[in-house]
Amino acid sequence: MNMNRRDFVKAAGAATAVGMVGVPQLALGAGKKKVVVVGGGTGGATVARYIKLADASVDVTIIEPNTHYHTCYLSNEVLGGDRTIDTIKFGYDKLEAMGIEVVHATAELVDPAAKVVKVGGKDYAFDRCVVAPGIELLYDKIEGYSEAASRKLPHAWKAGEQTRLLRAQLEAMPDGGTAVIAAPPNPFRCPPGPYERASQMAHYFKQHKPKSKVLILDAKQKFSKQGLFTQGWKALYGFGANQAMIEWQPGPDAAVVKVDAGSMTVETSFGDEVKADVLNIIPPQRAGKIAQVSDLTDDSGWCPVDKKTFESSKHPGVHVIGDACIATKMPKSAYAANSQAKVCAAAVVAMLKGEEPGTPSYVNTCYSIIGKNWAVSVAAVYRLSEDGKTIAGVEGAGGLTPMDTSPEARRREVQYAYSWFKNITADIFG
Ligand code: FAD
Repeated sequence: MNMNRRDFVKAAGAATAVGMVGVPQLALGAGKKKVVVVGGGTGGATVARYIKLADASVDVTIIEPNTHYHTCYLSNEVLGGDRTIDTIKFGYDKLEAMGIEVVHATAELVDPAAKVVKVGGKDYAFDRCVVAPGIELLYDKIEGYSEAASRKLPHAWKAGEQTRLLRAQLEAMPDGGTAVIAAPPNPFRCPPGPYERASQMAHYFKQHKPKSKVLILDAKQKFSKQGLFTQGWKALYGFGANQAMIEWQPGPDAAVVKVDAGSMTVETSFGDEVKADVLNIIPPQRAGKIAQVSDLTDDSGWCPVDKKTFESSKHPGVHVIGDACIATKMPKSAYAANSQAKVCAAAVVAMLKGEEPGTPSYVNTCYSIIGKNWAVSVAAVYRLSEDGKTIAGVEGAGGLTPMDTSPEARRREVQYAYSWFKNITADIFG
């Protein structure tokens, strides 16, 4: 294929909008360049893979503590009982087969001045570093909650062991019990996530524990895809009626401010005490800890970046992608992280060569499975604003599932969700 670098950068940017997977191989100039990626999750694995696809001669190292990654996406279906946890588990063997080095360790510091990532007494030198650590859960924002307490009151907002634990608790819960979800304030990972979770819990209860219910105590007054969720909840779980299987209480009054793992109670900011059989506490969030200690965050707790390249606004040579970065209108989602990773990979490859990165576009789609044969979605295409400061939605591109869509279309959305999952995980992990 005959394509110059500028064309490739443009194509890779465009590819993020249309979901194209392959990119051409291009050789960089003399001198092996090194990229260190911190975090081998959705954003990190994608950026590593796409840099390597763009130029196999770049030395790419991922630093990631876990030998396997569990996707949060579709983890709610594990809670609902329609999926096993093995189906959301991925390894790094295909990335390693491409020549990407995967070091299973926790990065302690990114030092932008020395251009090294510090890992257990060893320094990994880089020409460019990409930081994709996801989120840090702020346990201490809720009195009585802690990482230790999360082993009894799971957050399940990082998938894997926590997902398993919450599922086991739902299975052990007696019929007639109440599962409480404490939903976090904005901004947080996966805006529709707590509401899809409530749906999946109710889906499970409806089949196996029909006298049970899910109570959402929310820090917010409104939530993502609210009209579509409540429509589905009404149809499937009697939302709004007596004996409804899902109840939602809005913030700020319903925000959970205190938990007591011993008595299995929570206290809301209004002062109400609520006792539960299962307590799913999703605390407030900020960018992953490594971003905090490496001075990549601003006062908001998230990482400001150049929207064209995802290079840190604070430290040149270091890029931040995924949940940890401030990507203005883009939500904190896997598809957004994957799209940002492709834009970042193209920019990193260009910048290693001293070339001007192309103008990107970005994409996001997010499916929520509300119940049997019932899913809804939101989709958007984004462009960089003229001044380069904002990632803004392209008017008329994407949108929400219509409220008056047919049962057949809702059934198909479930299949589209599965198809999206299959494609994106292949795109991330090979
Ligand atoms: P992650 O995927 O979390 O990856 C971060 C990685 O960095 C982790 O593997 C971690 O171990 C590693 N790491 C952290 N610190 C260090 C360190 N110091 N050194 C080395 N490694 C480190 N998104 C969708 O698009 N669609 C969905 O349907 C969807 N459903 C969801 C459902 C739930 C219940 C939840 C919680 C989320 C959902 N999401 C969904 C959101 C999605 O999971 C996240 O937005 C996405 O994973 C963000 O990717 P990331 O790369 O920023 O972070």
